[in-house]
Amino acid sequence: MSDYGYFNRFGGKYVAEVLRRPLDELEIAFQGAIADANFLAELTNIRNDFIGRPTPFLFAENATKATGGAQIYIKMEGMAHTGAHKINNAVGQALLARRMGKRRIIAETGAGQHGLATAAACAKLALECVVYMGAVDVSRQQPNVAAMEMYGATVVPVLSGARTLKDAINEAMRDWAASYDTTHYLIGSALGPAPFPNMVRTFQSVIGTETEQQIAERGLDVAALVACVGGGSNAIGFFSPFLEKDRPRLIGAEAGGIGPGRGENATRMCGAAARDGIIHGYKSRFLVDEDGQVAQTRSISAGLDYPGIGPQLADLGESGRIEFTSISDAEALDALSFFARSEGILFALESAHAGAAALKLARDLPVEKAVVINMSGRGDKDLFITSPEFRPAQWRVFLTSELERLTAGREIHDGGLQ
Ligand SMILES: *Cc1c(COP(=O)(O)O)cnc(C)c1O
Repeated sequence: MSDYGYFNRFGGKYVAEVLRRPLDELEIAFQGAIADANFLAELTNIRNDFIGRPTPFLFAENATKATGGAQIYIKMEGMAHTGAHKINNAVGQALLARRMGKRRIIAETGAGQHGLATAAACAKLALECVVYMGAVDVSRQQPNVAAMEMYGATVVPVLSGARTLKDAINEAMRDWAASYDTTHYLIGSALGPAPFPNMVRTFQSVIGTETEQQIAERGLDVAALVACVGGGSNAIGFFSPFLEKDRPRLIGAEAGGIGPGRGENATRMCGAAARDGIIHGYKSRFLVDEDGQVAQTRSISAGLDYPGIGPQLADLGESGRIEFTSISDAEALDALSFFARSEGILFALESAHAGAAALKLARDLPVEKAVVINMSGRGDKDLFITSPEFRPAQWRVFLTSELERLTAGREIHDGGLQ
């Protein structure tokens, strides 16, 4: 099927009647924008000056020597402003919203990375920003909540359901149904109802376009591109110029979590647990429980800990153009440590899944071949997770002393007020 918004049997626009009009309007506005030289010039400017594009392309020479196989290259997407690829999409959609005359942006966020990118993009483009976030996530992800608020966003804790990401998505959809005349709903990955999967891929394809050029400049013989896959936006953007070709191999690393059992991972394409489903407005592969409800997933990386996958990736997985592999929490932590020590680069936990998959692959390939990793984000944001893993005792002392310092500070301050 080549109907717009479908990728064979996946994709579509499964929304309540009230949301059809805003989605149709968005589709028309998007097609108009990407055909307009002024919009594209504005996008290029903000990519260069605000995001910091093009992002570097690094030969990981020490890692290559230590591995003893194919040359390992890293697309350093984590060098983008706010620390990850999510800003590419946030800036693109925020520009589009402004062009459509919408002054208010809503978004939902789980771990807070998408909320952070959206808040920064809105601040830059002088748009109002409201971020829905499950109340459980608000308390778990305080560093990102603090950053969003510094960028001037309003973070709304969602108290319904399990108080996590899927409840925040429902709340954002409800807001949009009542507010679309003035408001754009900025979805953060290559999923959701059409036109979001196509639109997000288009804004993220800058990663792949730059990579293709950087590969050509160096004359590399690339055997494989490797990306991690949560909803799928960094992967589909990185892979996009290569989808119609039959080389190089395109490899997606999913979160293998702590094991293959139900609730222990977030592998939608590897393993046999996922089912076809229609959830949050699109048809794809989902991890569900016996009742067909979204299942609990598990991963050390918040960005990969999601029960669904973008519809185009689901289709390309079935056709075999994209191969999927599962990387455990422990393998991701090892890869993170390896690249930090050998290259002086701190991968985000998500991206470390791609790093681990690439290392396995590179080992068995000849030295004249190259493997390219998309480092979707940098790992500064993960210090609250990696530090308790790598050095738990010291981290506990740090947190305790911080709490004491705050408490002492309050006493002194309160005393001063009396
Ligand atoms: C959010 C996030 C991901 C996962 O999202 P995709 O849409 O699959 O790209 C991966 N890496 C980082 C650093 C993230 O912040």
